Amino acid sequence: MNEETKRWIAQDKAHCWHPFTRQAEWCSEAHEPLVLTRGKGAWIWDSEGRKYLDGNSSIWTNIHGHGHPRITAAIERQLREVAHSSYLGFANPRAGELAERLCALWPRGELERVFFSDDGSTAVECALKMAIQFRMQTGEPERSGFVAFSDAYHGDTMGAASLGGVSMFFERFRNFGMPVHFVSGMEDLAELPEESTQSLAAVVVEPRIQGVNQMRPWPAGMLRGLRDWCDRRGVHLIADEVMTGFGRTGTMFACQAENVAPDFLCVAKGLSGGFLPLAATLTTREIYDAFLGGPERTFFYGHSYTASQLGCAAALASLDIFADDRVLECLQPKIDRMAELLRDLKQRSPCFHDARQCGFVAGIELRHPDGTPFPPERRIGEAVCLAARPHGLLTRPILDTIVLMPPLCTTTDELELAVAAIAMAVEDCRGAMNAC
Ligand code: PMP
Repeated sequence: MNEETKRWIAQDKAHCWHPFTRQAEWCSEAHEPLVLTRGKGAWIWDSEGRKYLDGNSSIWTNIHGHGHPRITAAIERQLREVAHSSYLGFANPRAGELAERLCALWPRGELERVFFSDDGSTAVECALKMAIQFRMQTGEPERSGFVAFSDAYHGDTMGAASLGGVSMFFERFRNFGMPVHFVSGMEDLAELPEESTQSLAAVVVEPRIQGVNQMRPWPAGMLRGLRDWCDRRGVHLIADEVMTGFGRTGTMFACQAENVAPDFLCVAKGLSGGFLPLAATLTTREIYDAFLGGPERTFFYGHSYTASQLGCAAALASLDIFADDRVLECLQPKIDRMAELLRDLKQRSPCFHDARQCGFVAGIELRHPDGTPFPPERRIGEAVCLAARPHGLLTRPILDTIVLMPPLCTTTDELELAVAAIAMAVEDCRGAMNAC
């Protein structure tokens, strides 16, 4: 290990605290974290000069590849003007243009207003607060509850976290959040007594696929059915497209595959192409109009870096790339190739239990050949991802599901390499799996 790497790791272990991380284990002598220092296209390098395909798009953010020259140039151009200015009481040219272009990605009049924030959690948090305040200002204050789906994930701030259905993350905070009723799917929702739907402000959903729930797609038509259910009961629909937005599932937004327009759309991760923290909550004219009038109707929400000029400049460049490089058209054959590769993968080992795919997002679930899950404490998913590194793939599991969602710019050759790395890693871990 080179001296710089040693120093960076020592500083990290002495002072840093990582998300979702068992810190005692992280800081132990035996653990040698990778220090990531450089990226280009779908590839990322560590401080020892080793190169990996970025198999989870740097936690689901990167869209067109690292160091994309157009996004880099846009950020540099913006830096020469101003890096940041307050959005509280002032406008900025990049945010205005970005808001107009985000709305234009929807049929005219469907989503007309954009509220900027910083990350996926705050995009959802804004939608929740807007949904409640809207009811207070339209004579239905009793409509303050939410429906969310079991095993959903919507972020970690207290409001967004309370919509989360993954007990490991959220259970201990259950009493501190919003009033939420959890349902497992449309059948469960249909059984909600009509009276109880009258206290609902909104339903929150990850459209087409639940990400943190080990990449689990919804049945086709679910979203359309949910939109109709909401319309019949006057309940708003909040679409959390923090993961699915910006082409991941094959259409610009997952909702568009089922011709659904939500009342609130939350986007983040890929909005800036994965270059800078930026998020947005889009909503309709009807909802926005309820915030007009007296000062008490103001939406009191905002962060210091709201509508960051750098982030907005990156996002505009990302949208240009989508249009000029016909990114979504070029993606379709890669999605088809991914489906073939996943089919073949299932032949490679009886431990490939299921390979779920939605667009360019896949979750490859590992189990014993007889279908029983591995004991969670054996952390087989983690072991396989570690074993994939020497084969040139960097990704993270969700339990024993290996996530494969590389940047949209990934070529079919690179995709083949990624899937081959997973197959080899599983082979390398055969002993550990057999021992479970
Ligand atoms: N919603 C969904 C569907 C997500 O997948 C995530 C993050 N994985 C979030 C919200 C939270 O986003 P962030 O981590 O940017 O706060």
